[in-house]
Amino acid sequence: MSDHSLETEAWDQLFSTQCECGSTKVKKQSFCRRCYFSLPRELQQALYRSFSEGYVEAWSEARDYLKEERTARSHR
Ligand SMILES: [Zn+2]
Repeated sequence: MSDHSLETEAWDQLFSTQCECGSTKVKKQSFCRRCYFSLPRELQQALYRSFSEGYVEAWSEARDYLKEERTARSHR
């Protein structure tokens, strides 16, 4: 996957009303509240970056983190 499509994906997700986990979220927030608060503090803060400051990378990292969290939970 190229960086460009990742950026497009991050943008689409930001303006979507559905979180990665399937829950409803607020437009212009990266994730729903539950996902957001399950992120490490560092990643929560990174999501306040602008697109030019590395938002896409932070979002991608947060998404991977949440994906792993969900996998870990479902296997417990
Ligand atoms: Zn969520």
